[in-house]
Amino acid sequence: MSDHPHRPETIAASALGYEDAASGAIIPPIHPSTTYIRDPDNAYSRGRVYARADNPTFDTPARTLSALENGADTLLFASGMAAATAVFMALDPGDHVLVPDEMYWALRNWLHGPATRWGLRVEGVDTSDTDAVRASLRPGETRLIWIETPANPLWTITDIMALAELAHEAGAWLAVDSTVATPVHCRPLDLGADIVMHSATKYLNGHSDVIAGTLTTARMDEQWARIKAVQTQQGGILGSFEAWLLQRGLRTLFARVRWQSAAAQSLAERLSAHPAVSEVLYPGLPGFRGHGVAARQMTGGFGGMLSIRVKSGRQAAIAAAANVGIWRRATSLGGVESLIEHRASIEGPTSPVPDDLLRLSVGLESLDDLFEDLDQALRRAD
Ligand code: PLP
Repeated sequence: MSDHPHRPETIAASALGYEDAASGAIIPPIHPSTTYIRDPDNAYSRGRVYARADNPTFDTPARTLSALENGADTLLFASGMAAATAVFMALDPGDHVLVPDEMYWALRNWLHGPATRWGLRVEGVDTSDTDAVRASLRPGETRLIWIETPANPLWTITDIMALAELAHEAGAWLAVDSTVATPVHCRPLDLGADIVMHSATKYLNGHSDVIAGTLTTARMDEQWARIKAVQTQQGGILGSFEAWLLQRGLRTLFARVRWQSAAAQSLAERLSAHPAVSEVLYPGLPGFRGHGVAARQMTGGFGGMLSIRVKSGRQAAIAAAANVGIWRRATSLGGVESLIEHRASIEGPTSPVPDDLLRLSVGLESLDDLFEDLDQALRRAD
């Protein structure tokens, strides 16, 4: 567990108070070296051998994330998918895992395709329904419950504390994709989860210029050692330059995410009254199905992501996305620029996402500009 004495905002902004011992520099350096000197007596007394296993550029971002998530250790991966799949690849063929029906689509496709061919028994369940999860658990066989909350792109909320209890009673682990909540709004390990994952491509880096993923563990146990071995052996590590950019992005995490969440809340409220919108999906709205649980397990806001359903259907939704000027028509989320996407088009025919849905990632532009741009785009498309 983290024993850092400062508050999370200070931890992130100060990069853990970094200071270079030799030069006095306050910015952590990049280490591009792939290899490290062996001592004359054949030992590696400095602890690093080869950069597929160890890279000092990772130290500050990994320790910062461990402190922000209140975890024991953090690994940096080449992408969010590399981080998530490492958790499953560290299990044994034949293990049973419970995964959400609604989750990041590429991971769902991997789980129900390659992961089952590799031997995992993957079962989908509505993880927002605690009773359904209880009924699907197979004590002694289920090794892992994977959840994502809020879940992309309907922002369904899962009760982390309830599922951690259920998982542990059954002898399973709970892993949480907390990409959308970020450590600004939620600390899954404090609620009983064993592992927290982020697509650091999104809010942690925050500038749409790095693909990265992270895992943080509650404790250094055998399962964590297995995950670490998967990473080192398969080589899904982050590059040095990307790790450095991620570290720079982390320093402004709290300022960015708080602004984005406040703007998303305001947009959700304003769009709820829009004549061209049939429904707004946002955990911060009191009428949203998971609002009560979200209010309990998230602090200081509900994240910068929301979705809207366009009253006149699929074609009007696609037309509205074509009519925007400030919002950028692109996939991904969590950057400083606001993005709009017709989600069903990217997820394909097996997606549970309604085809009148537009996903909105709120950036740092003027809130009034963002609303006015959407308003004109929706009215012209109607
Ligand atoms: N989890 C969530 C919630 C995501 O939105 C994404 C990507 O969009 C991922 C995981 C995968 O991350 P990456 O694209 O960094 O591999």
